Amino acid sequence: MNAILIGAQGSGKGTQAEMLAQQAGVPHIASGDLLRKEVEEKTEAGRKAKPYLDSGKLVPDDLTVAMILNRLKQPDCEHGVLMDGFPRTIAQAEALDDGLRSLKRRIDVVLYLKVPREELLWRLSGRYICRANQHVYNINTRPPKRPGVCDLDGSELYQRSDDVGEAVQRRLDIFFNETIRLLDYYGKQGKVVEVDGNQGIDEVHRALVDAIRRHKD
Ligand code: AMP
Repeated sequence: MNAILIGAQGSGKGTQAEMLAQQAGVPHIASGDLLRKEVEEKTEAGRKAKPYLDSGKLVPDDLTVAMILNRLKQPDCEHGVLMDGFPRTIAQAEALDDGLRSLKRRIDVVLYLKVPREELLWRLSGRYICRANQHVYNINTRPPKRPGVCDLDGSELYQRSDDVGEAVQRRLDIFFNETIRLLDYYGKQGKVVEVDGNQGIDEVHRALVDAIRRHKD
């Protein structure tokens, strides 16, 4: 299965992608995580991407497309992937289609996790992630066992600077003005399935699994 999970920041996309990928036995490829890692490791790509991440703007396509296509060529992606956060623009979707074609693969299904904007803002204001592996918590809905510490790896939890203030509004604007157009792009290919993301984590997971099954039939 080659699938894309589309959802705004705070829609639960990362959590759901992780669960689905594990269940399907395919890698979870999150462009934001890959970019943050490049920034953390101070690579050339990371240095170029940093100002965009800090301000909540989209990193230029040449950088993200090359990074993702490179990742897709790794042997662990051979039997499928679950993509999260990429593509975010039509140009990226076209580049992805071309890249996959040259690997004799294609996107099978695009899952859209729908959540209202007010709910997204509320969720993002409580979101914390861990330094070591970017595990996600929410002080309102999914708190860690010990405050400020990741349950899974014991590393420190922090709030992303782009989850607050102007940057978060900008990221949501980009999502609702630009990324949302991917639903048309993939809709024309008959690949989009919409799921109500405004439910508990397990309900959303079940709805996604169901949607994938129905789409296959
Ligand atoms: P995320 O963790 O998915 O919210 O992504 C965090 C930030 O990484 C975004 O605000 C962008 O600056 C950058 N980013 C992630 N994915 C992409 C993408 N597909 N295209 C451009 N920028 C991206």
